[in-house]
Formats: sequence, structure tokens, C-alpha cells
Amino acid sequence: MIEALNNILPQTQCGQCSFKGCRPYAEAIIEGEADINQCPPGGDLGIAKIAKLLSVQPKPLNTQFGEHKPKSVALIDEEVCIGCVKCIAACPVDAILGAAKFMHTVIVSECTGCELCIAPCPVDCITMQILDDSLSAPSNLHAKQRYDARQQRKDKEAVDKTERLRKQKERLASTQNQ
Ligand code: SF4
Ligand code: SF4
Ligand code: SF4
Repeated sequence: MIEALNNILPQTQCGQCSFKGCRPYAEAIIEGEADINQCPPGGDLGIAKIAKLLSVQPKPLNTQFGEHKPKSVALIDEEVCIGCVKCIAACPVDAILGAAKFMHTVIVSECTGCELCIAPCPVDCITMQILDDSLSAPSNLHAKQRYDARQQRKDKEAVDKTERLRKQKERLASTQNQ
């Protein structure tokens, strides 16, 4: 049931529901620790889907968690960007391209509009633009796949780092014992 619920959430991982992403919110709903109307990106349509899945009455969005906004994408002012890579670290779906000290660009077709890249930018060069009819936001499933792939990559990087540190310690210990 948690997975089914997670699959109908918007997958922006924005945290507006007060949980650390869509799956934790789905878990909290199932465990009775959160209400069904805490996801602003999903809005009333999303609440209706949750209510139907759980066979409960829908209710209006609780705007204490935020307002439902039109779908939008992030845009980077490349003239101002200093290439600090902080937005890349913040983006849950790897929708930003760039390297240290080079300007960065948003892959518009991958951007879920979560706004998580805005606050970390030290030069305020990221703004949100409402999607026009010529562009469409990535589907929930696609965003979830991108997010899951990123999490798996980060988990692997953490394991590799631990292993590197362990080997370094072993080498150091063996040098000291010689
Ligand atoms: S999209 Fe909705 S469920 Fe997912 S983190 Fe944002 S507010 Fe929470
Ligand atoms: S580019 Fe910004 S707004 Fe778009 S998905 Fe990434 S963090 Fe969210
Ligand atoms: S956080 Fe801002 S300045 Fe830093 S790389 Fe991203 S867009 Fe450029």
C-alpha cells in the first residue's frame, strides 16, 4: 500500500508535506501520522487520488503546507552563475548540468519544479518559470525513476568512500608497523 500511495504522489521530493520526500509522506499517511491533504504540488487532484486509494473522503488542501502552484521549471541565469555546483547537489532528479567553475544549465525536460535548487544558490541566479503549452513536466513515474537512480548512485558512492577510507587506514597501520 505504501508503494501504491508513493506512486501517485508527484515525486518532486520537495518536502512541503513536512516529510523528507514523497515516500516518507506515504509511509506517514499509512501509519496514521499524516493527513491526506498535505501535498501542495499534488493539489486537490492528488488528494482525490489518495482518498480513492484509501477509500476515504477527500478534503481540501491544507494550505499551512503551501499553495498549489502551476507547473514550473527552474531557469539559471548563465551570465550570473559562478559554477559553485550547490544546485547540482540539491537537485533530487539530476536535472542540472554543469561542472565546478563553469556555468550550469537546467535540463528543462527533467525538472520537476521542486524549487530545491533556489535556496542554496549563493548568487540568486535561479528563478522559476511557469511551463507554457510547448513544454511538459516529467511524469511522476519518470521523476521517481530519476530520483531512485540518484539515491542508488549516492548510496554506492557512500559505500565506495567507506571502503576507500578502510583501505587507507589499513595501509597506514601496516606502514606504521614496519
Ligand atoms: S511532492 Fe508532495 S509528497 Fe512529495 S515531498 Fe513534495 S509535498 Fe511531500
Ligand atoms: S532543477 Fe531545481 S527545480 Fe528543477 S528538479 Fe532540480 S532542484 Fe528541482
Ligand atoms: S547554485 Fe547558482 S551559482 Fe551555483 S552553480 Fe548553481 S546556478 Fe550557478
